[in-house]
Amino acid sequence: MSPSPVVEVVDLVKRYAGRTAVDGLSFRVEAGQVTAVLGPNGAGKTTTLETCEGYRRPDSGKVRVLGRDPQRDARELRARVGVMLQAGGVYPSVNAVEMLRHVASLYAHPLEVAGLVERLGLGATGRTPYRRLSGGQQQRLSLAMAVVGRPELVFLDEPTAGLDPQARRATWDLVEEMRRDGVTVVLSTHHMDEAERLADHVVVVDHGRVVAAGSPAELTADGAGGAGDRLRFTARPGLDLASLAAAVPAASRVEEVSPGRYAVHGRVDAHLLADVTAWCAARDVMPEGLSVGHRTLEDVFLELTGTELRS
Ligand code: ATP
Repeated sequence: MSPSPVVEVVDLVKRYAGRTAVDGLSFRVEAGQVTAVLGPNGAGKTTTLETCEGYRRPDSGKVRVLGRDPQRDARELRARVGVMLQAGGVYPSVNAVEMLRHVASLYAHPLEVAGLVERLGLGATGRTPYRRLSGGQQQRLSLAMAVVGRPELVFLDEPTAGLDPQARRATWDLVEEMRRDGVTVVLSTHHMDEAERLADHVVVVDHGRVVAAGSPAELTADGAGGAGDRLRFTARPGLDLASLAAAVPAASRVEEVSPGRYAVHGRVDAHLLADVTAWCAARDVMPEGLSVGHRTLEDVFLELTGTELRS
């Protein structure tokens, strides 16, 4: 760990009218990394990010961004930190490109606006006022506004929520490009594939607390709280697990992860595959989506919290 993280959150607590949204949450963001804060609805991701952005005051705990206090040093941080909020921050009647040009003009070394507009597929929006843009276009514009000033650090709150696959990919490309340029990125997401693909460091949050943190490889590695190899399939719910367990080697463990989703943990080889498919065939069960491999972030999350991430 570096001695001075770009973002440092220590024992953060935030309550709303007696309800605890963030409950003693701690994490560090290292320079030049993409950090994903991953968790289900209501886990406290937005509250945490907004506290780092200086929009909310912690009830207790410490938050430092680039070594500064996000509220006390807001003016200094504004020039160095890009923020993409979940909604808005734009005058409704101004057109998208005008708005972006204006924001770019506030910075000493902005990105080239025309290129950014093209990259994010906003070229066709021409003179359309902000309020008439589609939800996805508005979202891409707020992403553009967050990055146009070439910040050292950007906070992106669910940058791909509700985007079509193409816009999602363009957003991912932009995040990867920022990372190559040495920008530190903190993003929140519900999507495990997004975290797995983009993040150097993942902070898994549930009920306002960090339940696991590490690189995607560390989090999904063998022995990090569960077996490494597994075979997965889906079929009708309620298969006889005891009978399936008897059909596979004793060292394997059989589980119905959630209704109709099955996993066999342990050494996965061609023999195990044959055992499982033979067992299914004998019962006229079609194992749909059969796959073998290491556990995914989704498996890790289910093991840790028993909660499925919802997108
Ligand atoms: P999502 O993925 O749905 O955006 P999240 O992980 O970002 O969720 P937060 O938005 O931080 O979660 O919310 C955490 C908890 O705090 C939720 O239970 C939410 O209802 C509550 N909360 C958030 N903002 C407020 C507020 N201004 N007043 C009261 N309660 C709030």
